[in-house]
Amino acid sequence: MPSLLRLERHTERSEIRIPGTGAAAPCEVEVRTDPLTGAVARINRARQGRPRQHEAMPVPEAAKGCPFCPENLEISTPAFAPDFCQSGRIRVGRAVAFPNMYPLSSMHSVVVFTPEHKLGINAYSPEEFADGIAASAAFARAADERGCPFHFLGWNHLGQAGASILHPHFQVIAGKSPVSSLKECLASCISYRAKGSRSFWDDLLESEVSSPRYVGKTRGFTWVAPWAPTGACEVIGVLEEDSTSLLGLERESVLGLAEGISRILRGYWALGIRSVTMGVFSLPPGHGDGAFRLHARIMGRSRRIGCDRAFLELYGSEVGLTEFPEEYAAALRGFF
Ligand SMILES: [Zn+2]
Repeated sequence: MPSLLRLERHTERSEIRIPGTGAAAPCEVEVRTDPLTGAVARINRARQGRPRQHEAMPVPEAAKGCPFCPENLEISTPAFAPDFCQSGRIRVGRAVAFPNMYPLSSMHSVVVFTPEHKLGINAYSPEEFADGIAASAAFARAADERGCPFHFLGWNHLGQAGASILHPHFQVIAGKSPVSSLKECLASCISYRAKGSRSFWDDLLESEVSSPRYVGKTRGFTWVAPWAPTGACEVIGVLEEDSTSLLGLERESVLGLAEGISRILRGYWALGIRSVTMGVFSLPPGHGDGAFRLHARIMGRSRRIGCDRAFLELYGSEVGLTEFPEEYAAALRGFF
């Protein structure tokens, strides 16, 4: 019998315009797929050279050398090629999107959603998040028009969550196929509906609004703590209307998503959480044939110990937690 082992990889290439000189430099990301599980690894050696901001540095001093602060942003960050964005950077309100200098895909954007170098998660307004989400959607739309219809919006806040630059910023990765978690989520949604012809999301909202895991509502979104959280004090915000994508989201619903994030963060602050990770699960408009729904997941990151991802999380694909969703949902409900 011949071996079936397939060691598959491809290289995603892009060009970055070096800040200051504007000279073009090649970027390469090698994407490898595990021959047994299909798990994906994205390798970009240049990421070793990422600058690093430290939390211990006082904000006024840190802001002086911060590439994402408004006085430095134009000279310290790269611009999009004119055929991607005429003005070089996508601006929505006070949010600015530009290419990631150290990308993990050929289309990887940084979205600085506030010009203010403020690190406290209790200090962000819904408008700041709304501008950041709208700028992210504008980047995803431009990527879609260039053959990358899938997008993933994420946020790591502070070093504990994996952020190298502490100035608050989202990231959006766009590609020809969805990131693995979106692919798995879509498959689970389709398989759930195939069993009883109902959408998981309709069932979830119907069941959980009257449960002790209910957190609150904002314009167009319902927020609940998941039955089996994937991280500390995790909350899911589910779009109430049957829509899959950030790209088709009305401004009112963008504001609703932003307001929910802002309220949860204020609640987290009261619970002692200072660092967070967020992912927005969004597919191209109409994708998944009614089984999938746009939703966001947000979790706190532990500062009590050095790292909250250990052998059980990394190699067991399970998570060890200390808080019950019913208990922290009750605490967060007070912020809605
Ligand atoms: Zn800054």
